[in-house]
Amino acid sequence: MNCIFCRIVKGEIPAEVVARTEDVVAFLDVQPLADGHVLVVPVAHEACVEDLEPAQADALFRAVTRLAGPVREAVDAAGTTIGVNNGEATGQTIPHVHVHIVPRWEQDGAGSIHTIFPRRGRRDVKEVGTAIRAGIDVARGAD
Ligand code: AMP
Ligand code: ZN
Repeated sequence: MNCIFCRIVKGEIPAEVVARTEDVVAFLDVQPLADGHVLVVPVAHEACVEDLEPAQADALFRAVTRLAGPVREAVDAAGTTIGVNNGEATGQTIPHVHVHIVPRWEQDGAGSIHTIFPRRGRRDVKEVGTAIRAGIDVARGAD
């Protein structure tokens, strides 16, 4: 396995680790979009969020909620943009789930998530809603 994030999780390559639990490791991005840009990764090597086991997903988002405040306060930011490039087509460069926590300030020149998308959805919202509801794994949602 030649995954950079797996190697960071195992301590095989250096990283500025800010938090570590049994299930999750958080460290500073080596090419930060802003001071305090943190990546939160599950210990488990999975490419996309939908590949995570429920307990792994719970631990990951729990860590994000726990870190958002300290990350923001450490660099005196006004907020954070929290996001995941989920799949190669979205710009994900490392196929190991990672949540970006990027500190933000007013007038920092970056936009909201909405600014990523030059076009808007075109399909009927009800029709799309029906398709999503039909695809939800009920068993997975129950645990
Ligand atoms: P993404 O485009 O969502 O796949 O983001 C991958 C992120 O990983 C980028 O922001 C990189 O700067 C970051 N990155 C790549 N290698 C390392 C590394 N060795 N340590 C910390 N961050 C890294
Ligand atoms: Zn990995």
